[in-house]
Amino acid sequence: MAKPLKKSAAKPKPPKAPASAKYVYFFGGGKADGNGSMRALLGGKGANLHEMTRIGLPVPPGFTITTEVCTYFYDHGKTYPKQLEREVETALVRLEAATGKRFGDRDNPLLVSVRSGARDSMPGMMDTILNLGLNDDVVEVLTKKSGNPRWAWDSYRRFVQMYGDVVMGVQKQGRDDHEPFDEVMDHLKREVHAKEDIDLNVEQLKDLVKRFKTLIRKRTGNDFPQDPREQLWGSISAVFGSWNNDRAIVYRRKYNIPHEWGTAVNVQTMVFGNLGDTSATGVAFTRDPATGEKVFYGEYLINAQGEDVVAGVRTPLPIAKLKQDMPKAHAELERVRQALETHFKDMQDFEFTIEDNKLYMLQTRNGKRTGVAAVRIAVEMVDEKLIDWKDAVRRVPADSLTQVLAPVFDRNDRDAAVKAGRLLCKGLAAGPGAASGKVVFNAEDAVARAHKGERVLLARIETSPEDLRGMIAAEGILTARGGVSSHAALVARQMGKVCVAGAADITIDYRARVMQVKGRTIKEGEYISIDGTLGEVYQGEVKTAPSEVVQVLVARTLAAKESRTFQQFAKLMGWADKLRRLGIRTNADQPDQAANAIAFGAEGIGLCRTEHMFFEGDRIYAMREMILAETKEARERALAKLLPLQREDFAGIFREMKGHPVTIRTLDPPLHEFLPHDSETQRVTAHRLGLSPEKVAARVAALHEANPMLGHRGCRLGITFPEITEMQTRAIIEAAIQVQAEGIKVKPEIMIVLVGFPKELQNQLEIVHRTAKQVMEEKETKIGYLVGTMIEIPRGALAAADIATDAEFFSFGTNDLTQTTLGMSRDDSGSFLPHYQELEIVKRNPFEAIDQDGVGELMKIAIERGRRTRPDIKLGICGEHGGEPSSVEFCHRIGLSYVSCSPFRVPVARLAAAQAALKDEN
Ligand code: PEP
Ligand code: MG
Repeated sequence: MAKPLKKSAAKPKPPKAPASAKYVYFFGGGKADGNGSMRALLGGKGANLHEMTRIGLPVPPGFTITTEVCTYFYDHGKTYPKQLEREVETALVRLEAATGKRFGDRDNPLLVSVRSGARDSMPGMMDTILNLGLNDDVVEVLTKKSGNPRWAWDSYRRFVQMYGDVVMGVQKQGRDDHEPFDEVMDHLKREVHAKEDIDLNVEQLKDLVKRFKTLIRKRTGNDFPQDPREQLWGSISAVFGSWNNDRAIVYRRKYNIPHEWGTAVNVQTMVFGNLGDTSATGVAFTRDPATGEKVFYGEYLINAQGEDVVAGVRTPLPIAKLKQDMPKAHAELERVRQALETHFKDMQDFEFTIEDNKLYMLQTRNGKRTGVAAVRIAVEMVDEKLIDWKDAVRRVPADSLTQVLAPVFDRNDRDAAVKAGRLLCKGLAAGPGAASGKVVFNAEDAVARAHKGERVLLARIETSPEDLRGMIAAEGILTARGGVSSHAALVARQMGKVCVAGAADITIDYRARVMQVKGRTIKEGEYISIDGTLGEVYQGEVKTAPSEVVQVLVARTLAAKESRTFQQFAKLMGWADKLRRLGIRTNADQPDQAANAIAFGAEGIGLCRTEHMFFEGDRIYAMREMILAETKEARERALAKLLPLQREDFAGIFREMKGHPVTIRTLDPPLHEFLPHDSETQRVTAHRLGLSPEKVAARVAALHEANPMLGHRGCRLGITFPEITEMQTRAIIEAAIQVQAEGIKVKPEIMIVLVGFPKELQNQLEIVHRTAKQVMEEKETKIGYLVGTMIEIPRGALAAADIATDAEFFSFGTNDLTQTTLGMSRDDSGSFLPHYQELEIVKRNPFEAIDQDGVGELMKIAIERGRRTRPDIKLGICGEHGGEPSSVEFCHRIGLSYVSCSPFRVPVARLAAAQAALKDEN
């Protein structure tokens, strides 16, 4: 409760809460203080409870404590604003009036739930308390009133369990530990030979409550509190406290939800799905969240409370069956399903409870969905005229397109696995795609093995939010219990992870680290494979095959008209292309990569790294000969061997790109990267080149650099060995002339790398222009080409005005620009960057998403100065950031002409560019 603010001399004064702030918003009886647009203040869940109340859906009354209270709570040493207590009391009085019930009343006691609700939903990450208001007296009142002692005691044991866990902190202590309350319950079930929770009778439930209370006392030294107001404030604090629990922080980091948003707290009258066989609870989606199909999708449990469905304690029934079990409630649910989509104009994921045949709505939110479902729902909602095509473009998270391109099992390999009897069992298809990996049974092991580069599948009896780290690290998730809306399934779908849930034939022994399926034992570290589209589990490895979109566009093994997924993807991409103003190019070094990228919609190559061509087959020896050469003549002899190879590579790419621009970068990496470092390869190299092994070893040693990334690389190579730039220019221009002669248009762009000083560029330009002229004279043909530079070191950005005198284009190499601006090695930052993110020193990994305040500022400076000299300078980006949505948006904002990214990220970049353009319209 509101405690005096503790002052600390060292800390700056936290901001004061506005004097006029209203902290508590009431809803009930068709009226609500808030509405659906108030997500920032009331959280997503709260805002929609208010909105559903307003549109006349059956919502039990309650009140929302705002997210501002959460912010205040953390800014003021976990205390509350002064007037909060009074506002909560007022809301309680309204609640009591609306329901005719009172806290702790001997005739008509009020029970409430206390739930979190952030602006963006964070499913299962924060805490929830149900049945609050129960105590030793109230349980007797409920027994008498309902004539249903089993229900009263079952509700009480659930409350004690939740309160003990969430508020009083009675939780598992080690990674191989089981939940303490579950252990107590399992113990009792074994003693009395009860199979399911539901088999426990009233006396046994009373005994269970006693055992739970003893556990709490033993673990905490305190008694479970009997006063409902103490319970309420304890729960409110716990829910605000859970905003900063480990799993919530991990979740926010993964989904870039700002830590300062805070959660709201919703206090709502309880309705009971566990009142007997005319009661039920469930979770439903207005469309199928895995495939996007327009079918009513969901599940329910008769005689149960909400968390049973989500936690996967019992495997629920499909919603279609409710039509037989409770036809009236099912019809009402269908009506609600329609009303929700018409009102919210998006696929909804909602929770409901049926108390004695009457339906209540407990929550609705825009449903999480797979990438495939996102595309399908958006496109079909346009067809249904629920939304317009621009909404559709806005709706599909650009990153989720990577899931649309995700693999499926290779059909032949899968059939072979079935024939060999390796199909172990079936579960629920909870997250589409196919994955194969070594099985692990806890999150920590998943993280540790993935860190070592192993592919792992995480198998759990059921997942809880604590498993989040492991789920992120794993290729796929398998659970023995739980339904399609269990925590595992929800989180997996959102992350685009393959998931099979509720594979009931599997038993897992965490301590022994084995799982058993139909008499077979699979140990930790053995391979299993799962198909999250069909819900199948296989022993051993099964090969994966590309997605339908990839099959149509890249492998060309499927006709476009045969694949609805492809057609809808293509429609969405078409809309995106109408909107975007950024060009999309790709980073490709080989003709086949270029072809894939074109199929995905690339409009040119933004970066061809020529060094990659030197590692193929025997070429490395010609390259080594060039590097080991001690005279200009010897070096030229070696380069002459490389010339035809490079020319053929470039010709292949030009042919594939059919007149689209192709930016080819001159040699970049430190030479020693090409050299043999162990004595055996040195021996082979020496033999191939007719040199002595000692000579090779000596030259390798001479080329050694302490800091190669800052050493003899980039244009520094072309400056010290001009013959390299000469050879590369000749190869490019000869290839261009050759392909042009075949009747194919060519647009070469030669890019000088790692330029910091204007004179570096001038030096290289002189070579390029001289060589190009010479080749054109030799071939008696003219060819158009551009020469530009990469901006990838801060000096290059700062000297952009002078550099632009000679450069016809800039391409931001944000990988190097990030490492040089931050002074942070792109190769070594993995050892400390995760920690930086944990401490929020950086919000996102700067090598993944552009560091807009640092690197981004340099980019803006370079653009402004470059344009000063050359107003029409062409500007692009070819660092890895070019395929990351927030960076694409940034590139759009600062006025680049194009982004260039890896082929499989081209669709992501197209959509992100369209979304950036749409933001301008708003
Ligand atoms: C860059 O530095 O951003 C870049 C594209 O070049 P590379 O990754 O090859 O250093
Ligand atoms: Mg670079």
